[in-house]
Amino acid sequence: MNFILDGYCGLYCGACPVMLETKAGTGNMPCHGCKSGQPAGHCATCGIRACARGKGYAFCDECADLSTCEKMRDFMADPQWPYHQGVLKNMEMIRREGATKWLEAQDKRWRCANCGASHSWWDETCPRCGQAVANYKAD
Ligand SMILES: [Zn+2]
Repeated sequence: MNFILDGYCGLYCGACPVMLETKAGTGNMPCHGCKSGQPAGHCATCGIRACARGKGYAFCDECADLSTCEKMRDFMADPQWPYHQGVLKNMEMIRREGATKWLEAQDKRWRCANCGASHSWWDETCPRCGQAVANYKAD
C-alpha cells in the first residue's frame, strides 16, 4: 500500500511517528496516511477527516465554515498535540503553491540536513545520525 502524506486538516503525515514506524517496519500500529484506506490511532476515527471526506474536499480550507469550525478549533488548541497549530499555515501554502510543491517542501523540512533521514514532529535529534534537527517548535 502506498503512503499518502497530506492530511485533510493540513497536517503532514510524513512527520508522524506512527507513519515513520510503519515505513521502518517497526510499528505495531500500521498507518499509511490520513487519506489512505488505513489510517491508525486517532486518525482512524478523526471527526475532521470524516467531515472533509463527507463533503468531498481535499483539504479543510475548501470549506466555507473553516473559520468557525469547532472541530478544527479544538484540534488546533489541543495542548497535547501542539504541532496542530501549523495546519492553517500549511493549507495556505497548499492553496498558494499547490499540494505537490508543499509536499516537496515538507519532505525536505522533516529530514535531517546531515544524513537525509526522515524525522518526526517531536524529534530534537536525528534518529539515524544524532545531529540536531528542527522539531515542530521551529515552525
Ligand atoms: Zn541524520
